[in-house]
Amino acid sequence: MACLTQLHDDIDNRVHNILHDHPDWLCRKGCDHCCRQLANIPQLTPAEWALLKEGLQSLPAQQLREVASRLNNLPSSRPFTCPMLELATGTCPVYAQRPVACRTYGFYIQRDQGLYCTDIESQTDEGKWDGVVWGNQDVIDRQLGSLGPSRALNDWFHHWIAETEQNSTR
Ligand code: SF4
Ligand code: SF4
Repeated sequence: MACLTQLHDDIDNRVHNILHDHPDWLCRKGCDHCCRQLANIPQLTPAEWALLKEGLQSLPAQQLREVASRLNNLPSSRPFTCPMLELATGTCPVYAQRPVACRTYGFYIQRDQGLYCTDIESQTDEGKWDGVVWGNQDVIDRQLGSLGPSRALNDWFHHWIAETEQNSTR
């Protein structure tokens, strides 16, 4: 059974190798198109949520309130912007604790759906990234499946807030 740390290490290695061989790779700080184009609310395993919660707990109170407000007011139409994205800077405030899907995006391919990033995909179609050894998203998804049942980010979040409020009134 994979553990989350092992999974992160494997992904980090893959990403490192791709970036090492291709220093002009498009993924870099400030490129936030993927964070602004979510097709669905992120699904997290218990281990991913435990880590992400650590990141959220370390945010300033006002920033956490803003995340909560965006999670409470998710738009009904897709795609939408990740509720955690810092809109002014295009950066992720929980980057070190981000879910696995955010770590593989742009570097892994899913058998039926291909690459998710259209910017990288169009360069791939032009032959720019010939020779890249992509990660296999299907393998990652299978390993994530062994970490326990996933729940939607807003479910985890609301459960956590309710629990915190309950504990504070005891
Ligand atoms: S996956 Fe695409 S949109 Fe996201 S950081 Fe990489 S290049 Fe930018
Ligand atoms: S958690 Fe961070 S990296 Fe992932 S989609 Fe949201 S803002 Fe982007």
